[in-house]
Amino acid sequence: MRLSRYYIPTLKEDPADAEVVSHKLLMRAGMIRKLTSGIYNYLPLGLRSINKVATIVREEMDRAGAMEVLMPMVQPADLWVETGRWDYYGKELLRLNDRNGRDYCLGPTHEEVITDLVRGEINSYKQLPVNLYQIQTKFRDEIRPRFGLMRGREFIMKDAYSFDKDEEGAEKSYFEMFEAYKKAFSRIGLRFKPVQADSGAIGGDFSHEFMVLADTGEDTIASCLSCEFGANLEKAKVAAPAGEDMTNADCPAIEEVDTPGQHTVEEVCKYLGVDPSKLVKTLLFVVDDEPVAALVRGDRELNDIKLRNLVGGNEIELADEELVKKLTNAPVGFAGPSGLDKDVPIYADHELCAATDWVAGANKGDTHVKHLSLGRDCTIEKFADLRVIEPTDPCPECGGKIEFTKGIEVGHVFKLGVKYSEKMEATFLDENGKPKPLIMGCYGIGVSRIMASAIEQNNDENGCCFPPSIAPFEVCLIALGGKDQAVTDKAEELYSSIKGLGVDAAYDDRKERPGVKFAEADLIGYPMQLVLGGKGLKNGIVEAKDRKTGEKIELPLDGFVEAFT
Ligand code: ATP
Ligand code: MG
Ligand code: MG
Ligand code: MG
Repeated sequence: MRLSRYYIPTLKEDPADAEVVSHKLLMRAGMIRKLTSGIYNYLPLGLRSINKVATIVREEMDRAGAMEVLMPMVQPADLWVETGRWDYYGKELLRLNDRNGRDYCLGPTHEEVITDLVRGEINSYKQLPVNLYQIQTKFRDEIRPRFGLMRGREFIMKDAYSFDKDEEGAEKSYFEMFEAYKKAFSRIGLRFKPVQADSGAIGGDFSHEFMVLADTGEDTIASCLSCEFGANLEKAKVAAPAGEDMTNADCPAIEEVDTPGQHTVEEVCKYLGVDPSKLVKTLLFVVDDEPVAALVRGDRELNDIKLRNLVGGNEIELADEELVKKLTNAPVGFAGPSGLDKDVPIYADHELCAATDWVAGANKGDTHVKHLSLGRDCTIEKFADLRVIEPTDPCPECGGKIEFTKGIEVGHVFKLGVKYSEKMEATFLDENGKPKPLIMGCYGIGVSRIMASAIEQNNDENGCCFPPSIAPFEVCLIALGGKDQAVTDKAEELYSSIKGLGVDAAYDDRKERPGVKFAEADLIGYPMQLVLGGKGLKNGIVEAKDRKTGEKIELPLDGFVEAFT
C-alpha cells in the first residue's frame, strides 16, 4: 500500500479525553476517530488490525468446529421478556421502538436470539452438539464509556453459543472453546491468563475470563505463583471454597432487621433519595448487627445504585465516591426473595463484602426490608460463604503465594446450563424419546478491545509496537530518495519484491522529510521498518529496523529476497 494515497490522519498531540495509552495512540496514529461518547469510526489502519484479530479468532473457532452465522443486531423485546431480561438487564440495554410502537433493543449479547433460532430446528439428540458463532457489532449503553476501544458503547465481539444433550457434552464444548481461546490469544501475541470468574457452583455452571495482563486493566486478578490458579478478584470470593449453607444460627442479626418497623422500604428509599414506586430491589449490608449501607436498584435501572451509610445518616467511607464508582461500574446483581437469576452473583466492593455479615433485601411492593430467605436455591446464600482473597491468603488450590495484578478482560467462557433453554422452551428428544432442555454455553471475545489491549502491552514513548500478527502492516518500506530518482526506482523495485513474497507491506513514498516518516512509522508501530536512502543505495544495502527492540541490521540489495526471507 502506497502511503501517498493512504488515509492516515495522524495527530501531533494526545487528545484531551484520552486517559490510557492505547486510546491516545489509536487516535494519534489515525486508526480510530470518535463519533460520540463510546462510539468510534475505525479508519483504514485500525480496521486492518481489527480484521486481523477477527481472522485469527475466526480460524480458531472454525478449527474447533464452531460454525459462523450472523444474527440481527436489532432484537424484538418479546424474546427478552421470555427470559426475564427485558426487566433485568437495566440501562445497558438500548431500547427502541419501531413505527408501530413495538419494543426492540440493540443486541448487547445474543442468548435470546440464538436460543430462538435453534428451538424450532433442533429436535433430536442426533443433531447435537452444535456450536454457532458470529463476529458482530454489539451495543451496550455503558454507564461510563471510557478508554477508547477498551470500554466502548458500540464494539465488535465474537460470540459463540454451544448446545449439547448432556452435562458431559456441555463440558467438552466448554473446554474446546477454552483451548481455542488459548490458541487465538497466543497467536495474536498477547500475554494473558485465564482466571476463574466463577458465578458460584450453582447447578454446576462455571466460567473463566481471559485476562490480558496490563496495569491499565480495570480488573484485579489474584494469581498463584506456584500453580495455575487465577481468579478475578471481584469474583475471587466466589472462587474460594464454599462453606456450609448459611443458617439462621449464623445470622444473629436476622430477627432484628426483619422486625417490622425497624427499617421500612419507604424509609430506606427516602434515605437514599429514590422513588419507592420505582424500587425493584434493595440490598442492605449488615456489619456487627448494624445495617451500614444499602444498594438500591430502581426500576430497570441496574446501574442506578445509591450507596449510603444508614447509621447516623452521615456518609462514611463506604459512601465514598470512588467506591460508588467502582460499584456502579461492576455488573451488580440484585437479589430479592422472589427471584434471582441463577447465574447472577452479588458483586460489591470486596472490603464491603469482607465486612458484611449477611444481606437483607426487599422487592417491589414490600413494606419492610427482609432478610433473604435461607435454604433457597439462589446465589444469595452463597454470599455468606464468600471469602475474599487477600494478598496474604494462601492459594485456595495449592497453598502457594498469591500475587495481585491488573488485567483487561478480553474473553469470557461461560457454561450456561439450561437457564435460557428452560425459560424459552428450547428442548430436544433424548435417546429415550424424552424432551429435555438444551444444555448451553456462551463464549465471548472482545475483538475491538483486543486491538487496544495489544497496544497497552506493546508500546513505548514513540508509539505502538504491534505484534506482527495483528499489525496494520507487517513492514513499512521507507524511501528517503528526495529528488534522487535512483533511490525512488530502487525502492519501487524493492516494494514489488516484498509484495511478491506475500508480505503485507506499506510503502512510504510520500514527499515528506525523513524525520516525519520515521516518527510516523514509529507511532503507527509497523513491526519492521525497511529504510532505503542515497547512501544505502551507494553501499548496496537497505536497513531493517525492528520496531520493538530498536535493533537494526543491514540487508544487501543484491540478493535482498534471500536475505529478507
Ligand atoms: P466487562 O466486565 O469489561 O464489562 P463483560 O463481562 O460485561 O465485560 P461479556 O459480556 O463477558 O463482557 O462480553 C464478552 C467480551 O466482550 C468481554 O470479555 C470483553 O472482551 C468484550 N466487551 C464487553 N464489554 C465491552 C465494551 N464495553 N467495550 C469493548 N469490549 C467489550
Ligand atoms: Mg460489562
Ligand atoms: Mg466482566
Ligand atoms: Mg464477562
